[in-house]
Amino acid sequence: MNTSAPRPLIAGNWKMNGLAASAAEVRALADDLKGAAAAAARVAICPPATLVERIAREAAGSVVEIGGQDCRAEASGAFTGDVSAEMLADAGATLVILGHSERRAGYGETDALVAAKVEAALRAGLEPIVCVGETLQERQAGRAVDVVQAQVTGSLPESLAGRAFAVAYEPVWAIGSGLTPSIEEIAEVHAAIRSVLVERFGEHGRAMPILYGGSVKPSNAAEILSTAEVGGALVGGASLKAADFLGIIRAL
Ligand code: PEP
Repeated sequence: MNTSAPRPLIAGNWKMNGLAASAAEVRALADDLKGAAAAAARVAICPPATLVERIAREAAGSVVEIGGQDCRAEASGAFTGDVSAEMLADAGATLVILGHSERRAGYGETDALVAAKVEAALRAGLEPIVCVGETLQERQAGRAVDVVQAQVTGSLPESLAGRAFAVAYEPVWAIGSGLTPSIEEIAEVHAAIRSVLVERFGEHGRAMPILYGGSVKPSNAAEILSTAEVGGALVGGASLKAADFLGIIRAL
């Protein structure tokens, strides 16, 4: 971990998982983090929209922060089924994941749309976690760095200058697959993202955390989290159970 960087962020993305009973996992997480681990990292849970308010209530007074998994760019209107950044903030969220590859691939989200959603998040006072990452085909073609740098450039609006945000490098082929890039590959892409952030935002771009995401689990977290320019993790499957997620947080 880069010691001059701000506290790392370990964020859990529950995706479309979780019912009311899942609040017990957040309670267990919050209780456990009353000790020393709380000082080492910021910890966030991003539950499905239906649970944001309930989980935010469960986590109130603890170190656990709550995030959404997506938002609409507009604040309100005739957009059946969608959720705005203002609604997430109103329900108790302070962060929001944007541009996850499952949304880019499944809903055709472009860099421009992700950038508009980032603007919405800032408007509502939410800290965006902007996801980027190459497909396996792009990596095999030797294009991983170019693809990711283009996504970072296109997905981050100028209005992020001076505002808190994170970028999450999530190789598409590593998500939910049990596969991870080599440590050298992670370091290479994180360095490439950092250079874009510094070029765009100067010193502020040097300070914003770049998370790694894709099959992070307690057994590989220590090595990944100690890689240069890795400022935390975005965790899917292993964030659903407090015990697994704590194993990752404790790896710091
Ligand atoms: C994710 O979807 O953001 C993710 C990193 O998933 P997993 O940890 O399950 O690979």
